[in-house]
Amino acid sequence: MGERQDDCIFCKIAANEFGTEFVVETEHVVAFSDISPQAPVHVQVIPRRHIESIREMNQDDSALLGEMIAVANQVAVEKGIAETGFRLVTNAGADSGQEVMHLHVHVLGGSKLGPIA
Ligand code: 5GP
Ligand code: ZN
Repeated sequence: MGERQDDCIFCKIAANEFGTEFVVETEHVVAFSDISPQAPVHVQVIPRRHIESIREMNQDDSALLGEMIAVANQVAVEKGIAETGFRLVTNAGADSGQEVMHLHVHVLGGSKLGPIA
């Protein structure tokens, strides 16, 4: 397991410090509802280990990325949006507006979504 950052809110959620209900959880990944949903379904898929953003990932992380995508698909099934469709978004760095500096993939769906940017 990777390093935990003591001041990182998503590390704390992953460690289940707040008793957050996970929509899906696997060995390396957890998924939970966003606190401020931007769509009828808005779930965050995160690695348990602290990685700042997708920029810190490379070929060595392919298994983790695959696990995250599989979890996102499971979330879509759990939430009933696999058929109607959904969007995966991950922000990295200032221009993207990334606010939480722990890698997360937004799963958005449940209604017709707006433009991407
Ligand atoms: P970003 O802008 O970094 O891509 O997205 C961060 C997301 O994390 C936002 O959608 C925000 O609502 C969500 N978020 C921030 N703090 C918390 C929290 O404590 N709990 C949950 N469930 N979501 C959070
Ligand atoms: Zn973290």
